[in-house]
Amino acid sequence: MVKINDNFTKLPGGYLFPEISRRVKAFMAENPPKPIIRLGIGDVTQPLCPAVIEALHKATDEMAVKETFRGYSDDSCGYDFLRNAIADHDYKSRGVSISAEEICVSDGAKSDCGNIGDIFSVNNVVAVCDPVYPVYVDTNVMAGRAGTLGPDGRWSDLVYLPCTEANGFFPELPNKTPDIIYICSPNNPTGAAATKEQLKVWVDYANEHQSVILYDSAYEAYVTDPSIPRSIYEIPGAETCAIEFRSFSKTAGFTGTRCGYTVIPSALVRGGVMLRSLWTRRQNTKYNGTPYIVQRAAEAVYSPEGQRQTKETIAYYLNNAKVIREGFQKAGITCYGGVNAPYIWAKTPDNMPSWDFFDLLLKKACVVTTPGAGFGPSGEGFIRVTAFGDAEATKEAVARIVDVL
Ligand SMILES: *Cc1c(COP(=O)(O)O)cnc(C)c1O
Repeated sequence: MVKINDNFTKLPGGYLFPEISRRVKAFMAENPPKPIIRLGIGDVTQPLCPAVIEALHKATDEMAVKETFRGYSDDSCGYDFLRNAIADHDYKSRGVSISAEEICVSDGAKSDCGNIGDIFSVNNVVAVCDPVYPVYVDTNVMAGRAGTLGPDGRWSDLVYLPCTEANGFFPELPNKTPDIIYICSPNNPTGAAATKEQLKVWVDYANEHQSVILYDSAYEAYVTDPSIPRSIYEIPGAETCAIEFRSFSKTAGFTGTRCGYTVIPSALVRGGVMLRSLWTRRQNTKYNGTPYIVQRAAEAVYSPEGQRQTKETIAYYLNNAKVIREGFQKAGITCYGGVNAPYIWAKTPDNMPSWDFFDLLLKKACVVTTPGAGFGPSGEGFIRVTAFGDAEATKEAVARIVDVL
């Protein structure tokens, strides 16, 4: 008889977003006085930019002609045209030397963050921030690296790195040394963006302990402060300890189109093996490459028009962030983020539990947010508000919130 992977049965049944949707549905059944505005889920709302659409059409036409049709590609890590564009625009232009062969294109950062565990032994101590993007935790539970879930919502074998107001939402070095360290900057959910000095502490630590940092910079395009790094490779020494995950999802609206990439420098060696070679081996075995038309669409993001158009959309979202931040402040709410990130991390008034504040905003303002407690115990006392909504709807939501608080 087949035996299932029991680790899956340890996972609590996706609590956060199903619970939000249950509460919203129940409230809607009571005929709310105003239409609901959703500032909860982290999905973009603006369409793909014209340069990307044009590239998609062109590549689609190529697929219709025998001479330019593409089937399987030779390399599941992507076509040279895209890998070279990434190396030039995202790295070389920032003074970072990452070559095309160190870049592996994929269908997105979620898959890569989740699948990277394949190249590491189950016997590794994993550290995650608290609050955290749930993918890092759940994929390690599935792999058997998390132990058992305690009543406090923490897994017995994970090292938790609290990110709180007190430490500026950036983790301090732990007592127990982890082998694998997840860092997400600009951060989902807190909206905090790490400085070079902050990252340097972890890079030095990882090199000293021969650990590996898994650096998720899905939101790098939202960095507005020129002193904040967009890539961990802007930190000297990162090339021997860090893997970086990036995505076109939040940068260029590819959440439904699917394209991202992972960078593993050749200098990153553990156990005498180049980690890059393990990852390409894994991808060539389990993945057959991102669709040609999607890679052409991603390439178009780097064209002059693509750059201009995607920057406009990012400015649109960042303006929403500003509206939210300033509105909340006006209502007397302390909030963080929303400057170098599309998320605002707002403190609940009078230490109200985050689910209660969520309910209050839902029932009084008809606005959906995300309770911070859903991202981990240290998220209690906060809610996450996204800047990815429609600008008019965002303004309306903020006006309603200011009104009810
Ligand atoms: C949205 C997001 C991603 C991007 O995921 P894709 O699979 O590329 O769409 C990665 N990491 C974090 C923290 C995110 O919020």
